[in-house]
Amino acid sequence: MAKSQGISTKAVHAGEQRRKPGHGVTTPVFQSSTFTFSDTADLVRFMERRKRKETGERCDYGRYGNPTVLAAERKLAELEGGDAAILFSSGMAAVTLSLLTLLSSGAHLVMTDDVYRRTREFVLSFLKPYGVEATKVPVGEYETLEQAIQPNTRTILSESPTNPYLRVLDLARLADIARRHDVYTIIDSTFGTPVNVRPLELGVDLVVHSCTKYLGGHNDLLAGVAVGSNEIVQRVRETQNVIGAICDPNSAFLLMRGLKTLELRVNRQNETGLKVAQFLSQHPRVSRVYYPGLPDHPDHLVAKSQLAGYGGVVSFELDGNLEMTARFVDALKLPYIGPSLGGTESLVGQVALTSYYDFTPEERAEIGIAEGLVRLAVGVENAEDIIADLSQALSVVEAASAARVASAAEGADGQ
Ligand SMILES: *Cc1c(COP(=O)(O)O)cnc(C)c1O
Repeated sequence: MAKSQGISTKAVHAGEQRRKPGHGVTTPVFQSSTFTFSDTADLVRFMERRKRKETGERCDYGRYGNPTVLAAERKLAELEGGDAAILFSSGMAAVTLSLLTLLSSGAHLVMTDDVYRRTREFVLSFLKPYGVEATKVPVGEYETLEQAIQPNTRTILSESPTNPYLRVLDLARLADIARRHDVYTIIDSTFGTPVNVRPLELGVDLVVHSCTKYLGGHNDLLAGVAVGSNEIVQRVRETQNVIGAICDPNSAFLLMRGLKTLELRVNRQNETGLKVAQFLSQHPRVSRVYYPGLPDHPDHLVAKSQLAGYGGVVSFELDGNLEMTARFVDALKLPYIGPSLGGTESLVGQVALTSYYDFTPEERAEIGIAEGLVRLAVGVENAEDIIADLSQALSVVEAASAARVASAAEGADGQ
């Protein structure tokens, strides 16, 4: 498909055959584990093509490929601007199988510190007994990152934008450091989406996503993807052929359906995210807002030059403890309380109670997770309605805290 086409044109048409089975307009769900051959010569032709590593539409067994999944992979490759893509059962499968492909015993990995918690756990706890060492560096410290590279370093892994503080990495700078040291770069671009950021064009080797979030976009599927050059994706595919963790055809179908409106949804979420962040930053009960579109964000300048939009996730701190923050969250009527992001429904959570529930208050304080920290992932509802809801929930907290101050004063008068 032509490079000059817009992202929505690609989202609708790329990867799909123009003529589809049964003359449908959509690519069907091929609910089949096995694909058959008309005779032995047909089978041998297929095996010969596979030996030459020619990939085609033809599949033989579900763990090695499925026509619905292959169509979704081609669409994602086009959207991300890579040669090839490989789908997985979840974002974590994409991250872990990509790392298992690029690392081996004796290898070293450099990782930025605020990557997804399970990714951190995989790198620091799971890979260690297999002889893979890792160094964690603070996000945004490029000299520290370069110094952490050792002769046995194979990969640099990071996310951008990150969770929950929406730190934005200078991906071109990161890719340049990696190239000078002959090290692969993997970026988890889940929060970015191909609408807002183009990591491969900035020199990154492999982009991974949790398609569960923006790419699927409707809070109704789990999937993951890795996109890059033919060479690197083929290597990851060989790992998947052995391990599994494949995307099932139903999820691939839903993912393709969701992708067709990716740009429409993300543009809306970008607009709402910015409006919500601006509203919150003006509100007296909100002590801090973390959003890369605001000028006081530490990475605002990088974000401004690198991102087409600042995304639909807004993190902010209420001037209050866990209990007061819970009152605010419970007073919200539109967003559902729950993990995840990027779907049509807005989701909200108190970070201390979602991602860090099993941490002690001291441990949370040490890594800077405030009791009043809230993450709001906006859906595609109208911005005015989300803001009105936030406003009424903040008044509930304001009234509760005023009542508390009044009753404390009364108590003091009575003494
Ligand atoms: C959700 C998420 C993952 C994990 O993806 P799953 O689809 O839940 O396995 C990885 N990275 C980031 C940034 C995520 O938000």
